[in-house]
Amino acid sequence: MPFRFHRALVTALAMLAVAQLPGYSMGGRLAALTRTKPPAFVSAHHAARGKAVRAKANSKKSTRVARNSKSKASNRVAQKVSKTGRKSNHNKSIAQAKHGKKRLAHASRHASKKIAAAKSGGHSNYMWSAPINLSKFDATTSNTIQMSFTDGQASKYSPEDLVRAGAVSYYGLKGGIRPRRGPIRNLILHSTETTQLADAKRVVDSWNSRGLVHPGAQYIVDRDGTIYETVDPSYTSSHVDTSRTLKGVTNANSIGIEIVRTGKQQYTAPQLESVVHLAGYLKDRFQIANIYGHGQIQPSDRTDPVNFDWSSFKQNLAMLKGNTRTAYGAHTTRQFSAVTSRAPARQRS
Ligand SMILES: [Zn+2]
Repeated sequence: MPFRFHRALVTALAMLAVAQLPGYSMGGRLAALTRTKPPAFVSAHHAARGKAVRAKANSKKSTRVARNSKSKASNRVAQKVSKTGRKSNHNKSIAQAKHGKKRLAHASRHASKKIAAAKSGGHSNYMWSAPINLSKFDATTSNTIQMSFTDGQASKYSPEDLVRAGAVSYYGLKGGIRPRRGPIRNLILHSTETTQLADAKRVVDSWNSRGLVHPGAQYIVDRDGTIYETVDPSYTSSHVDTSRTLKGVTNANSIGIEIVRTGKQQYTAPQLESVVHLAGYLKDRFQIANIYGHGQIQPSDRTDPVNFDWSSFKQNLAMLKGNTRTAYGAHTTRQFSAVTSRAPARQRS
């Protein structure tokens, strides 16, 4: 025992001494040691996909880059390279040693958080993706399903069938997915309320850039009326803050539909039409009792869908059944001006 203790002491002293040497970065060493690895259940494929997404986000120079620890590390390297000259090396290495200690403390806090989360089943059941069959149906089948969907008669088809028939498009969540436990009772409508123009895919990209745990809704309806499924409704996504919701609404017992809009835009007719088709389908398919706006069930900090005409929506939803076209302007030519803004799509709702 004393011998071992002695050896440990000598090793620690040696490490400290090395840390004082000019040009030695303890921070960098620890960063390498404590670099976070994807959880065991994440396949290499998905980890690689996550990296690709992160790399893409980085190249766009979004504000998120600043939070990326890898780029922080490379910034440190860049600073080190630019700061040549020996006189500041001593102070620098002290600072680096202090920084290293901080990182170590942070790493151990992070590790204990991870353990706590695993014990409580918190983040441990998040998934990077959910299985889906994207192979297309033949034209006749697709047409039949598409017609059924717009006529409010598609409840015998699964959400996946709608995607395979092209009635609903698919743009997948990467992360933010959990297996659903329990029945779906609520349908929650949202509006994206982005600060800048952002189409549906851009909003989903923004969700996906945040790692394994992030917000998202199962469906997002674009300005031209295109409905995107991001994950099958048999999985849960995080579109409400369960700690603030009323009427017993949780992510576990609800499906979220986001309607794309900035505060300056009106909803488009094709968009409202699609929301009715989708809400009608989901209501029938899952026998959903309640349709709420996010603001209704989370009034402490949400007001979306903003400026949404509920009486018109309910009227149209009632008319959908029985092969009746809705009054929003069914089969309106889709008028979509592509959004070219590449600014970060920070979402407030
Ligand atoms: Zn919302």
